Amino acid sequence: MKSWNFAILGGGMVAGYAAKQMVELGLKPGDLTILSADTAVPYERPPLSKGFLAGKDTEEGIRINAQEFYGTHGIELRLGCQVRGVDAGGQRLTLASGEEIGFNKLIVATGARPRTLDIPGASLAGVHYLRSLDDSKAIRARAAQARSAVVIGSGFIGMEVAAVLAQQGIETTMVLRDERIWRQFFSPEMSHFFESYYQARGVHFVKTATVRELRGGAAVDRAVLGDGRAISCEMVVAGIGVQPVTEPLAASGITLNNGVEVNEYLETSRPGIYAAGDVASYQDVLFGKRRRVEHWDNAVSQGQHCARALMGDRAPFRHVPYFFSDVFDLSYEFWGDPSGADAIVHRGDVAGNSFSAWWLRQATVVAAFTMNRPDEEREAAPQWIEARQRVSAAKLKDAARPVAEAAEPAR
Ligand code: NAP
Repeated sequence: MKSWNFAILGGGMVAGYAAKQMVELGLKPGDLTILSADTAVPYERPPLSKGFLAGKDTEEGIRINAQEFYGTHGIELRLGCQVRGVDAGGQRLTLASGEEIGFNKLIVATGARPRTLDIPGASLAGVHYLRSLDDSKAIRARAAQARSAVVIGSGFIGMEVAAVLAQQGIETTMVLRDERIWRQFFSPEMSHFFESYYQARGVHFVKTATVRELRGGAAVDRAVLGDGRAISCEMVVAGIGVQPVTEPLAASGITLNNGVEVNEYLETSRPGIYAAGDVASYQDVLFGKRRRVEHWDNAVSQGQHCARALMGDRAPFRHVPYFFSDVFDLSYEFWGDPSGADAIVHRGDVAGNSFSAWWLRQATVVAAFTMNRPDEEREAAPQWIEARQRVSAAKLKDAARPVAEAAEPAR
């Protein structure tokens, strides 16, 4: 059995950024193996539903490290490699081929897989999900031929993919269960702004609706809604969430609970085995609660954090949750956790495309959104959330004042 000092189970963004960080910290050649089920070297996922999907980014351009980086630094990168099981006590991994690989320390970064539709017609040609580079290529190829599309779900994938398809002149209809988009993050004013922005660019919304069935011959040609209405379409993209991939750990003895449970050091219930990215349910020391975050920034930050832990720098993971999105010509950012907020303050023009939103809990900032706002607002957002900054809602609302004037002394 070949043994490695360090192993990373999963070849996504965590692996790419962890490897890069380890090299910067002096990783010795021959110390690290990455076991990836994907067939491409670790790449950035955000472009898959934005620039890469739109044909603006290339495959090389979205790699986290150049293809030769791994060989140059003596890192083994095994692609198309299925890991069947983890023996935590015995410190070894079993591959689908039966081969065993030993490790001293391990990062579990198995990520998540898309939830799939459980309706008649779901396996027709032209029905897509988006997670991997290959998925993005398949949607891109289909979109090049299609004149109409139905997008199911109005989460990140739904909103970003619909924007790309509409920009390609495809008649795009979004079907969502809720009565407004992004309810879990956005205020009603913000949902209204984005819906209007999309509609003005040709996207149709069918709200409080579900797709009951997909129909077609050689490929999908119609989506039938719960009330019997049918929407013609030449392709369907479903972005209906993801589920963490934990099967290889099922018999490992490692605690699993909505993913892989880790403590504030990102260490699992087995010392020396860490988890990071979409699969890690971690103890957030800033908010004092357990959470699992499925965004790019979390994979990057946790990958780097675990890399430092493996190389001997053990510290709690203190990080303000963050994500960004680009839709049409808009870019926005979001920090923190709006759940439990008791007030939302908008700053700027919520009907225009330059505004920020601030979620307060007992006058303390817990989350913030900014779009086309001055840097001082972008900088204040994570700092205030981390510092549990008290603010004056009235001053914060007044965009004529510098945002810093809204800060109030702690009680
Ligand atoms: P998501 O953001 O969790 O949104 C899922 C959407 O699907 C929700 O609107 C949900 O509606 C709906 N839904 C769930 N089950 C459904 C069903 N059976 N039928 C119809 N609608 C259903 O997930 P996603 O958009 O699929 O994105 C996948 C992952 O990629 C996420 O982890 C996301 O964080 C990540 N991602 C992030 C970014 C970014 O950070 N900018 C961009 C792309 C992807 P309800 O509210 O009604 O449940």
